[in-house]
Amino acid sequence: MGKAIAAVDLGGTNIRAALYSESGEALAQCVLPTLAHEGLEPTLGRIFKAIEEVLKGSGELVAIGVGAPGPLDPWKGVIFSAPNLPGWENVPLAEILAERFGVPAFVGNDANVAALAEHRLGAGRGFSDIIYITVSTGIGGGIIADGKLLLGAKGFAGEVGHIVVKPDGPQCGCGGKGCVEALASGTAIAREALRRIKAGESSSIPKFVAGPLESLTAKEVAMAAMEGDALAQDIFKEAGYYLGLSFVSLIHIFNPSRIIVGGGVAKVGRLLLEPAEETVKRLTMREFLEEFKIVPAALGDEAGLLGAYLLAKESLYSSSSNSSSKASIHSSSIGL
Ligand SMILES: [Zn+2]
Repeated sequence: MGKAIAAVDLGGTNIRAALYSESGEALAQCVLPTLAHEGLEPTLGRIFKAIEEVLKGSGELVAIGVGAPGPLDPWKGVIFSAPNLPGWENVPLAEILAERFGVPAFVGNDANVAALAEHRLGAGRGFSDIIYITVSTGIGGGIIADGKLLLGAKGFAGEVGHIVVKPDGPQCGCGGKGCVEALASGTAIAREALRRIKAGESSSIPKFVAGPLESLTAKEVAMAAMEGDALAQDIFKEAGYYLGLSFVSLIHIFNPSRIIVGGGVAKVGRLLLEPAEETVKRLTMREFLEEFKIVPAALGDEAGLLGAYLLAKESLYSSSSNSSSKASIHSSSIGL
């Protein structure tokens, strides 16, 4: 029986788990609803259950990796708070999982570990410096600098969604104003569409919405845009412009070879990325754009699980090869 690593992608809607061989072959998968509204204990119970489920696959468990919403401490594996997981405050998830399953557990920010996956196995392969951005309900990301995941002083690095691109712009969930998340996320796109339709602009968006107009999401705006709806196209153009502004800052600061764009909203492709690219070309110093490209993510929904697997595998390797490091069975060390 070969060695195996369990990976967990802890989301506000679903808990996904998978068992991987050491070489990254998926041995088993499981998806359970998070049912986050039930609170901490029941959600933890479902995480245990998802891991137990995939352990029925063959393999000797050697480590557990988790991608979780933050902010969190990636060294100790403590989740400080999670807006989509009520009751999750200062939860030492790595320690809880290590005790339950008797193997080291490692917890990383979900977008950070997805960046790791895209860098090692996806659209960033072969480059030492890339930035991954996920555009969905919110906007998150991860920065790989010189081949390593950038964690920052407290482990919060890579919160690319909170780059301010419009001073005095709309209120953001972080407490600030005019963050790119408040202007280009799925939530922002839906809110802007609703505002403009209610202001009397004509659009085919309402015919794509099954329920009340207020329930519209970026998906319906995308459907209308693809059918040529002018308002919907304009909304994506504006969102893409703001996304591009955030890219301009990222490119000048980190000088990446690739910005890799993933997440549900990014599935609209050109609608969002063309205006972003145009903005980047217009506002970025020439030298930075030689051999630079904005590209779609390659791993899709698998990035989170693969990233959690890579986090566990690489952390395990770095902690066992350096016994004097601060990593212990309870502490997560991402020293890649
Ligand atoms: Zn913000």
